[in-house]
Amino acid sequence: QKQPAFSSPESIASTTISAPYSFLAQAFAMIAETSSRTAIIHILCNMLRVLIIHTPSDLLPALWLCSNSIGASYKGIELGIGPLVLTKALTSVSGATRQKLYQLYKDHGDWGDVAYAAKTSVRTIVQPKPLTIAGVFDTLNIIASVKGKGTVNEKCKHVQRLLLAAKDIEARYIVRTCVGNLRIGAVGTTVLVSFAHACVLSLTPPQQSSASPSLHGALMETWHEKESERTTLIRCDGDSVETLVQKMKHAEALLKECYAQCPDWDVILPWILKCGDISRIFEQCGLTVGVPLRPMLGQITKTMSHVFNKLQTRAFVCEFKYDGQRAQIHMDVGGNIRIFSRHLEDMTDKYPDIVSCLPHIKKYQTTSFIMDAEIVAINEQGKILPFQILSNRERKNVALEKIKINVCILAFDLMYLNDKSLLRLSFRERRVLLKQHFEPVENKFNFVNSIQASGTDLEEQERVQGFFEKSINQGCEGIMVKVLDHPNNTSTIPTVGARSQDLLATYEPDKRLESWLKVKKDYLEGNGDSLDLVPIGAWHGSGRKAGWYSPILLACYNPDNDTFESVCKCMSGFTDKFYKEMKQFYTDEGEMRRILDHPRRDYVTDLQPDVWFDATEVWEIKGADITISPLHKGAIGRIDENKGLSLRFPRYLRTRNDKSIYNATTGDTLAAMYSNQKNLQLNEGE
Ligand code: ATP
Repeated sequence: QKQPAFSSPESIASTTISAPYSFLAQAFAMIAETSSRTAIIHILCNMLRVLIIHTPSDLLPALWLCSNSIGASYKGIELGIGPLVLTKALTSVSGATRQKLYQLYKDHGDWGDVAYAAKTSVRTIVQPKPLTIAGVFDTLNIIASVKGKGTVNEKCKHVQRLLLAAKDIEARYIVRTCVGNLRIGAVGTTVLVSFAHACVLSLTPPQQSSASPSLHGALMETWHEKESERTTLIRCDGDSVETLVQKMKHAEALLKECYAQCPDWDVILPWILKCGDISRIFEQCGLTVGVPLRPMLGQITKTMSHVFNKLQTRAFVCEFKYDGQRAQIHMDVGGNIRIFSRHLEDMTDKYPDIVSCLPHIKKYQTTSFIMDAEIVAINEQGKILPFQILSNRERKNVALEKIKINVCILAFDLMYLNDKSLLRLSFRERRVLLKQHFEPVENKFNFVNSIQASGTDLEEQERVQGFFEKSINQGCEGIMVKVLDHPNNTSTIPTVGARSQDLLATYEPDKRLESWLKVKKDYLEGNGDSLDLVPIGAWHGSGRKAGWYSPILLACYNPDNDTFESVCKCMSGFTDKFYKEMKQFYTDEGEMRRILDHPRRDYVTDLQPDVWFDATEVWEIKGADITISPLHKGAIGRIDENKGLSLRFPRYLRTRNDKSIYNATTGDTLAAMYSNQKNLQLNEGE
């Protein structure tokens, strides 16, 4: 039986020895020198293998530190280290004045490099004890827990201690972790893949593990070896290379799937270490009440006829697509309630009204659940109000009696019920359970407005079209079309690796599949969907825009190799006020400067803007059509082997503060949009 994550995670059987932090820093430095993803995975994998064998208790800290954080985002752990704390700590450790530090920052554009430069000129007479991985991680956690009066001094004291003990490149990576940007271009998926490989190659059930010095030696030797020599890596049971590669691929898929259901190393890692076999990960891990899963996402569609073509004779449900805030609502058997955002942040404090209404929506047999829903603002008559009204609501520690903007929950899916995961059930089955176990409460809770249909005949198609128009008339963005049943000939539903074309009716965390299609008003106006892109560079403006940045180079995100691929140069949709604020945002010396001297290693483009930005924010951009481009690299390799895709006539709509750079439009989505658009052109003559 899985433990709900509200209780503290099982602790890892710990050894008292921790590996030196320099071991991790060395790996980061090696990664920083290569742009090959295979090489990065190889380096990370070998580093993690050494830890698996020698100091498994370091794995948790190492995985978090490699992922650029010290805990899962839903836990809201924030280091809260700004330039003030950093410069104070660095001044006392290096003797450099604040002015000197800011000058260094101007030269390097990175606080990690500043720390490295400032520290190299310092001679220490008494050598402090070397930093360990666990020691650094623990200190960072202490820093995050410092609150209240005297916070700056207290945090500074801890940073200072770390920096005093840091040798050589250690200072660079400690400071980069402190400011939340490791700059090694290897977060997220890359860490998952590397760890999966490391487990296959080196993890053995606890009772059999024998850390021999010769194995350690072999690992250290392979540290610098090339990918082609991977076969030399030691494996006790003597699997062939082909078998190992197959096992690694399988482990990779399992871990990705598991992490999408339970994105928290604190929960996953103890079990992997305990059972010593990553292929058994789903026996204990997976969906967990209290840990937000990554939500399933909708694939865009250009026209209604595209929906009918895709789904053919399959039965589906059309739902209103409300313009509110996505909410994942969790309740455990103890009645503890948590509400998580689309990006897995805990927003329970923002919605005390929802928390207080939840006991009234569930029927008596319901003991625990995870529900997917949209929260919308409503007026006293129960009319749904625009998203802008909802966005005016206070964000933190909202007091029930002070709420001015009322909200209603509109539920559309149920992923977990009474201690069981429902992810592998069909949508039809999940919907039945949703309606059986919950009941509407006026103006507080309801199910999304929906109809069941199929696209088989004209009458049905007209009904769907009518429902779509109704959704628009009622202020919605359009509709979501969701497949109800698994295909007839599907005898077993795969637990991992569902593909878009399979049109399964399972709930697939973190996937954007064709079994969920979004049809938005914009498409029917012929404009296509907007893209969420990341500014990565800019040119100096001229004429009226002299002194500002224009155009801006924008990129989509490629999660397969953690890169940002350029998609377009945008110069319209901005106001003068926006230009001014943007210039200040990117160049402000007092804050973290976001101008870089060189493009980040994870940027992929053939263009040379005047300045490079540190990828920080996401902009919603609307354009005309998507074309194959010799210069841009969006979705490179997907449509054309060597060319990328670019968006023509891009126009800025708004900044997506609710999205992180890793939630930007992906290359896959861009490629799908390009293909949809081609289908549309092909169908035009019909
Ligand atoms: P995405 O969430 O797909 O990355 P996005 O944040 O830009 O993209 P949209 O593409 O406009 O949002 O649509 C998806 C969002 O629509 C969901 O995340 C959810 O918040 C919202 N939504 C509203 N109604 C529904 C519904 N009935 N089913 C699923 N999602 C819905």
